[in-house]
Amino acid sequence: MSTVYPQVRLKPQREEPLLNGHLWVFSGALQQVPREVEPGGLVEVRSASGQFLGRGYYHPHTDIAIRLLTRREEPIDAALLRRRIRRAQELRRVFDPALTNIYRLIHSEGDGLPGLIVDRYAEVLVAQVHTLGMERLLPLLVEPLLEETGARGLLLRNDSQARRREGLALEEPRLLAGEVPPEVEGRENGVRYLIDPWRGQKTGFFLDQRDKRAALAKYVRAMVAEIAPEGVARVLNCFSYTGGFSLVAALSDQRVRVTSVDSSQPAMEAARRHFAFNGLDADQHTFVVADVFAYLEEARAQGARFDIVVLDPPAFARSQGARSQALRAYRRLNMLGMSVLRPAGILLSCSCSGAIGLDDLSGTLSLAARALDREVQVLEVLTHSCDHPVRLAMPETLYLKAIFCRLL
Ligand code: SAH
Repeated sequence: MSTVYPQVRLKPQREEPLLNGHLWVFSGALQQVPREVEPGGLVEVRSASGQFLGRGYYHPHTDIAIRLLTRREEPIDAALLRRRIRRAQELRRVFDPALTNIYRLIHSEGDGLPGLIVDRYAEVLVAQVHTLGMERLLPLLVEPLLEETGARGLLLRNDSQARRREGLALEEPRLLAGEVPPEVEGRENGVRYLIDPWRGQKTGFFLDQRDKRAALAKYVRAMVAEIAPEGVARVLNCFSYTGGFSLVAALSDQRVRVTSVDSSQPAMEAARRHFAFNGLDADQHTFVVADVFAYLEEARAQGARFDIVVLDPPAFARSQGARSQALRAYRRLNMLGMSVLRPAGILLSCSCSGAIGLDDLSGTLSLAARALDREVQVLEVLTHSCDHPVRLAMPETLYLKAIFCRLL
């Protein structure tokens, strides 16, 4: 191929991660800073001895100086981007559209398109760009995204805080193509949702929890079977957003009563509407707009007892530096969650902080259980759903950890 890219050499012995399939080059690994390259421009990466390693985009002021888009000697052009989109689309054929028509279509590095998120909600796409390099490639992406997916519209939600690190502004939602209505009707495993792609959190929905929601259903059913015929099963969904876990629980059986707690009033209104939208009587359930910590303190003081508790907090640690403070918050949260759980109750504890590992989360559960003199049986450990693929060589991009356990 005739395309020539400015070349960047690594320091000696810094090529190993890239050879393994990692896509990042840290600024400290660069032998010399490419001078003729504009911020966000394309470069070719070679080892100290001159071995070709890949091509990607460069940022002069971030720790991650280069993110690779390819590890082959091929041009970075619209055709390459289209191939990436096509490959991503093929993976998402795992979803039966009659049951699930909302999913992540492009998961950044996991789909070979670093810095780009594209979520699909029925007929529309919602994109988020996190890096300057991807921002520059965006004009090349619009057409293939629409053509390869047959979507009716593409909305850009450039309001993620991650943009600040790259010196990018946070923007208002912007329509890039076609039409995107204020509300999209979507399905996840047959559960119906009304998604607001313009104003909802992230791109409108937390798609990464799909299989955790599905996994919850069997524990709810088992709990109902144990308690029936006289009683009802009580489920507490903390950080419920628009009610994903709540709906799955309530739809499992009529004898389930769900309490959803979230600090966002619009999210709670959406949760209530979702109950009716799925043929449930919202008045049989409880919707609380509150800080979860305050709610749980109060519930504990009143001696509340739930059969199942879900804890799906926002990321408490946004960086490695925030780890110890975050660990304290996770410990306190899990302790509070456990203290309102009845003996042999089920706890689902999640963390979506990249800086908090699975060991950290299970360590947190262990400390919380010890403080309450309870025993923990780990039942299932899950991470992302399959539409959030993780590159084997980049385990640090696995951010979601979810542990189902039983508290004896
Ligand atoms: N479980 C949800 C996703 C949770 S995202 C789902 O399945 O869709 C995290 C949620 O926590 C957001 O809805 C946010 O509004 C809420 N939140 C953040 N801090 C909170 C707090 N201190 N108390 C209650 N809710 C909070």
